[in-house]
Amino acid sequence: APPLLEVRDLRVEFPTRRGVLTALDGVSFAIEAGEVLGVVGESGAGKSMTGAAIIGLIEPPGRIAGGQILLEGRRIDDLPYERLRRIRGREIGAIFQDPLTTLNPLYTVGEQLEETMLTHLPIGREEARRRAVGWLERVGIPAAAQRIGSYPHEFSGGMRQRVVIALALCAEPKLVIADEPTTALDVSIQAQIIALLKGLTRERGTAVMLITHDMGVIAETADRVAVMYAGRIAEIGPVREVVKHPRHPYTAGLMASIPPLDRRVERLAQIEGAMPRLSEIPPGCAFHPRCPQAFDRCRRERPGLLDAGGTRAACWLHLDRAGRHA
Ligand code: SF4
Ligand code: MG
Repeated sequence: APPLLEVRDLRVEFPTRRGVLTALDGVSFAIEAGEVLGVVGESGAGKSMTGAAIIGLIEPPGRIAGGQILLEGRRIDDLPYERLRRIRGREIGAIFQDPLTTLNPLYTVGEQLEETMLTHLPIGREEARRRAVGWLERVGIPAAAQRIGSYPHEFSGGMRQRVVIALALCAEPKLVIADEPTTALDVSIQAQIIALLKGLTRERGTAVMLITHDMGVIAETADRVAVMYAGRIAEIGPVREVVKHPRHPYTAGLMASIPPLDRRVERLAQIEGAMPRLSEIPPGCAFHPRCPQAFDRCRRERPGLLDAGGTRAACWLHLDRAGRHA
C-alpha cells in the first residue's frame, strides 16, 4: 500500500519584483498511518510552508512550482479548490499556533464542532451534538455539557487549544498537521496538550505531522523527525537516531539546544550565524557558511539526501558511506 502521505520533490516559489524566491526546494518525505513525524528547524526553514502546501493554503503569489503531494496514493496538489477543501476537512485536520485563527468567534464551540461533523460525517444533528460533548470531555474540558454553549473567547488559551484539537479530530481525519500547536502556551500546559494530542491520535491510528522549532517537543513526541534548513530537508530518520547521534552538522547544532537524553552523548557547541534569507541561499550546501566541517565540495555542489547509516542526511560527509545518493 502507498504511504498515507507522500511528498515528492516539492518546490514552492514566490515571484517577487527582484526575481523568483524558492521557499521549498526538493522536499521529499512520507508519513505512515499512526506515525508522528516531527518537522523541526529554525524559523524560516520552510516547516510551515511544507504544512501549508499539503493543505493547499500557500498564500498567493506563492505557488507549488514542482513535485507532487499524494494522500494514500492519490495526488492532492493539483485538485480544484473545492475538492481539496473537502479533503482538508474530512481527511486532513489542522491545528495552528493561535486558536483564535481557527475558531470562529461568532459561534459557540458546540456549534462549530457540530457543523464540522455534519459536513464531513454521515451523522445527524442529534448524534453530532452528543459527539460534540464527548469530544470536549475527551480533550479535558470540565463541565463539557455546559461549556458546549460557550464562545471561544470565554475559554483560557490552554482550554481554547484543547477545543481546537477537538475540532481538528472530530471529523476523524487520517492526518493531522499541527503547526507549533503549543508555542503560545505556558510550559506546563504545553506538555499536557502534546500528551493529549499524542494519546488521541495514537488511539485512532491518526498520522501527525508536528511542526515545531522545539527539538525537546520532537524528542518526546515524534517517531521520526525531518530537520529542515533553508527550504530543504537536512536530515530525516527515526527520532532516537537523530537525537542520540545526529549525522548532519546542522542537526548536531540543533541538538545542543536541548539537554542530552543520555550521558554518553557529548555536548555539542551551538552554531554561529543565522539561517539565510530566501534571496540569499548560498550555492552548494545551503548550510556551508555556518558549518564547522565545510570543505571545498560543500561550496560548489549541493548534496542530496545520502544514506548516513540509520538516518539520511544531505551532507557530503556521508558520501563515503553511501557511495551514491540514497
Ligand atoms: Fe557541512 Fe559540507 Fe555537510 Fe554541508 S555538506 S553540512 S557544509 S560538511
Ligand atoms: Mg512557522
